[in-house]
Amino acid sequence: MKSIYRGLIVAVSGPSGVGKGTVLAKVEELLEKANPGSVGHSISVTTRAPRGQEKDGVEYYFRTTEQFEQMIADGKIVEYDKYVDNYYGTPSEPLDEMLSKGQDVLFDITIEGSLALNRKFDTDTVTIFILPPSMEELENRLRGRGTETEEKVQKRLEQARNEIKRAGEFEYIITNDDLDRAAGDILAIITAEKLKASKNISAVEELL
Ligand code: 5GP
Repeated sequence: MKSIYRGLIVAVSGPSGVGKGTVLAKVEELLEKANPGSVGHSISVTTRAPRGQEKDGVEYYFRTTEQFEQMIADGKIVEYDKYVDNYYGTPSEPLDEMLSKGQDVLFDITIEGSLALNRKFDTDTVTIFILPPSMEELENRLRGRGTETEEKVQKRLEQARNEIKRAGEFEYIITNDDLDRAAGDILAIITAEKLKASKNISAVEELL
């Protein structure tokens, strides 16, 4: 009676400082509350050094550039990108497993990463771009992060502008002016995506 549901990749991008991580943590919390075990967690591989209390296999798999390039050569990375001189990539096997178990997987990844997942997984992916409420607000958030020099803040803002120019390459655009609303918007997108006719034809056949 019940058709096998293949999980959805929710690929979220947006400029640094827009609050992607916080919004996605909220979305994950709400999805888990509604349906425990329904969200899978992808741990990326990176060549950047661990920060603070970060542990290998928890926040990231920390690897050398040689090891990372070997993983690419071995086909173990489904998408990867360079960000501030370091590689970041998504391991293929765990993702395939989660999707075939029917788990949805939320991604906070670069623009190229989201678009690559969309090309590779097509109907199993939805891409979302998060905008800041205003450039002033983004600037405040970038400054609020701590002891960045003025030059670094300006560089990050310039990069943010260049990224925001690409928002139209995504399927959905939301604004993070309020955490609960932004999380609610992403939940609405996920619900709509799952209700697409193309994904529910088997239910019609089963009914008849
Ligand atoms: P951070 O070094 O601050 O943890 O992450 C830097 C950036 O890398 C973030 O903007 C995040 O979206 C991106 N990122 C993290 N993991 C991946 C990944 O597996 N693939 C891609 N393409 N980007 C990633």
